[in-house]
Amino acid sequence: MKALLIEEVNKPYTLRTDVAVPKVKPGMILVCSKAAGFCHTDVMALAGHTNPPLPTVPGHENVGVVAALGEGVTGFNIGDRVGAYLYRNPCHECRECKNKTYNYCDKVTLAGLNGDGGMAEYFLADALWTVHLPDALAFEKAAPLMCAGGTVYQSILNAKLDKGKIMAIVGIGGLGHLGVQFAKVMGYRVVAVDTRSAPLDLVSHLPPRLAPDLVINPTDGVDKTLERIAATFDGATGVDCTVVCTDALPAFQFSMDIMAKHSVLVFVGLPLEPVPFHFSFFLNKDAIVVAGALGPKESLQEMLELAVKEDIHVEIKEYTMENANQMLKDYENEGMKGKFVVRIE
Ligand SMILES: [Zn+2]
Ligand SMILES: [Zn+2]
Repeated sequence: MKALLIEEVNKPYTLRTDVAVPKVKPGMILVCSKAAGFCHTDVMALAGHTNPPLPTVPGHENVGVVAALGEGVTGFNIGDRVGAYLYRNPCHECRECKNKTYNYCDKVTLAGLNGDGGMAEYFLADALWTVHLPDALAFEKAAPLMCAGGTVYQSILNAKLDKGKIMAIVGIGGLGHLGVQFAKVMGYRVVAVDTRSAPLDLVSHLPPRLAPDLVINPTDGVDKTLERIAATFDGATGVDCTVVCTDALPAFQFSMDIMAKHSVLVFVGLPLEPVPFHFSFFLNKDAIVVAGALGPKESLQEMLELAVKEDIHVEIKEYTMENANQMLKDYENEGMKGKFVVRIE
C-alpha cells in the first residue's frame, strides 16, 4: 500500500508504495483510510520525542471506512464510516484496564507516535476506541476531531465548571479554535487568548453563537486584560477557568495571572520544560490544576454528536500524501490557523 513514513527523525516524511497492509488482529478493525489530521504531537514524533520505532507510519487523527474486522469485534460492518482515537492494544490485566481507564494502560500503543498510524491507505484501529462517524460529518472535517477535538472537549468537561462561568481558552491553534466553540455551545462565557492575530481573527469571525465573548492578546498586559474582563463580564475579577492549549511557558503564567479566586487551570499543552507554579496561586487564589486529555470512547461519540448538532466549524487546510512535506513547512508558518489534514486517496 501507499504510506508516508518516518524513516529518520528530524527529516521529512518518505512516501513509499510498497508498505505491507497491516494484518487485522483480534479486537482490531482494519480501516481503509480517508483522511488523517496533522497534530502538534506529530511534530513531537518526527523529532523523536515519542520514541517512534523506525520506520513508523505517522498520523493519529484517523478516519476511514471499515475494510475488515478482527475476531471478537461486534457493532461494526464492512463499509461503515468510522473514526478512532490513537490508542491500541491495552494489556487487559493492569489496574487501569481493570478499571476500564484503558487510556492510562502503560502497554497501549499510540498510533502514529510509537506505532503505525493512519497516513497510509490502511490503518489498524482498536474497537475499544472506534466510533461511527455521523453521516453529516465529512472525513476531512472529522479527522481533526479524533485528537484535537476530543482532547479539548474532554478538557472542558474536566474543569467541571458550572454553566455561565467564564472560561478562557488560551492558545487558539488546532485545539483552541475548536475549544472556543465547544465552550460556547456548552454554556460558558468565553475568552479567546493568543498572541497571534490570524487565529484570533478566525474565531472572531465565527457566527456569534460560536464566537468568543472577548478576545485577548496577552501582549496588552495583565492589568489591561483584567480591566477588559471586568468591563465585559459585570465586574468579574478574573476568569473562572483557563484551558491552556499551548506549550508556551509565558502563557501558563499569563493564565494564572488572569484567573479569579477559586478557579481552575486545565493543563492541556505539552511544554517540554516544567511549568513553575508560585504558591500564591494556590494559597491566595485557592486555584486548582486538572489534567486535560482524551477521554473514553463515550466522550468521543458525545463530542461528534455535539459538533454536528451545533455545526462546529473545523478550519482545515488539505494536503495529500504527495505534498505532505509542504504541510510540515507550512506548519512552521506564523500565519498558520486551524488544522492541517492529509487526504488519503
Ligand atoms: Zn493495561
Ligand atoms: Zn494529537
